[in-house]
Amino acid sequence: MVAKIQTTKQAEVQRIFDALSRAIAQHRLRPGTRLVEAQIVEALKANRNHVQSALQRLALQRIVTIEPNRGALVSQPSAGEARDVFVARRAIERAIVESITPEAMRKHQQRVSSHVSNERKATDSDDRRDIVRELSEFHLMLGDLSGNQVLSEILANLMVRSSLIVSLYQRNDVPSCASDEHEEILSALAQGDRERAVRVMIEHLDELESQLDLSEAPDPEVDLRQALADL
Ligand SMILES: [Zn+2]
Repeated sequence: MVAKIQTTKQAEVQRIFDALSRAIAQHRLRPGTRLVEAQIVEALKANRNHVQSALQRLALQRIVTIEPNRGALVSQPSAGEARDVFVARRAIERAIVESITPEAMRKHQQRVSSHVSNERKATDSDDRRDIVRELSEFHLMLGDLSGNQVLSEILANLMVRSSLIVSLYQRNDVPSCASDEHEEILSALAQGDRERAVRVMIEHLDELESQLDLSEAPDPEVDLRQALADL
């Protein structure tokens, strides 16, 4: 009985964790948003203790920040942390791409082709939320295709943190991934050319990072007259 209660609790905490992660990854909850427990309880029809456990887990993964007396906030990664996340993504996604065999590509052919068509549909539409979801789904799908659960789990965390980073530091409002690079990676993998797939993936991640403005810390002395001129 105790074990059963424990499992139900774990499943509930996971459900809340997943819902909040997804909302953050899809930019529905932006960095710095206050995560009011009572509202989460109501929105997700969840129990308060479970919500607290899920928030603590998100905090351990640096997706949420818990501040004494202020409660939980969606994290606001610093520029330095953003750079570190990209270094980690290059290492993890290289390992993921290197693990994907042509056999795995054949086995998951259905999923890959339905993803490609969903991603095209999303990028043809103007729905930013769909675009963000599908572009990030591509990277998560490769994690699954690698068959390495540990790499997939690390990537899932890095992808949510990347979403926060894009929300904070993207120079302009264009979607961050390019679909043709995604398709090039898939076609190299289908042909068993992992070397090319790795090369394109690294170029792709470099390109994503170059779209961010991680140059400087915020400048409290900024001259507002200058910053607001020509607008
Ligand atoms: Zn991408």
